Amino acid sequence: MAPRLRGVKEDFSERTVVPAPGQPAPAAPGAAASVRGLSRRFGHRTVLDALDLDIASGEFVALIGRSGSGKSTLLRALAGLDREVTGQVSAPGPVSVAFQEPRLVPWKRVLANAALGLRVADPQAAARTALDEVELAERASAWPGTLSGGEAQRASLARALVRDPRLLLLDEPFSALDALTRITMHRLVLALWQRHRPAVLLVTHDVDEALALADRVLVLGEGRITHSSTVALPRPRDRDHPDLVALRLLLLTELGVPAGETD
Ligand code: ADP
Ligand code: MG
Repeated sequence: MAPRLRGVKEDFSERTVVPAPGQPAPAAPGAAASVRGLSRRFGHRTVLDALDLDIASGEFVALIGRSGSGKSTLLRALAGLDREVTGQVSAPGPVSVAFQEPRLVPWKRVLANAALGLRVADPQAAARTALDEVELAERASAWPGTLSGGEAQRASLARALVRDPRLLLLDEPFSALDALTRITMHRLVLALWQRHRPAVLLVTHDVDEALALADRVLVLGEGRITHSSTVALPRPRDRDHPDLVALRLLLLTELGVPAGETD
């Protein structure tokens, strides 16, 4: 029997989408992303299996799942980076992605990296504003190779933000950072989210990170969303809050990991 949670509401909206045969449920109106019947196979292996998902405008969603469960595959599909998926993916408006490795172009300075491919009147000015927002303005003329892990990740975030995304996709962006830098990044991402209000899909293998940041935590397993919990607690959250303690247990059980890491 799952523990009863007060600030945390379990909901299984993803499961309640039951399209009639051959007729997928319509995309949720106004959603930042809607996915219907999304499948992806690699050879004989089905990694995503008729997955349904809606992300509301401005919603902060965390996606957890065991290593190899298909989190990055789903993210790539949402980013439009994978043309071999089947099903429907709708993500109207600009979509930005930041990955675990910052993927900065090594022969371009930080400012030029942030401005890369930007189609606005003054890309440099826009990039400068974004660097300012991630508190990296003073490193604008640095080479990527001279940045610390946290700085490189902030540059990557600036490059994502400068496009003013309606949907921000983050694929384990903090997992290579040390614990203190990760906490600083959590605060920064929350501040940026509160200021700009993009919808966020954060892939993480860290249940605590998901619980600290997200409005809703999803579990990916067997190619589908197997669990969805709404976290209604105000931020910043106390990780020892009884609701979070209970939800942590529930999520770890859902992942088949009684304690510790999920990856
Ligand atoms: P996660 O991000 O949850 O760790 P991935 O989405 O990266 O998992 O991968 C899910 C599964 O799909 C893994 O078993 C992985 O090996 C496989 N996979 C991912 N990309 C490819 C690819 N391009 N070719 C073959 N198999 C792949
Ligand atoms: Mg991955």
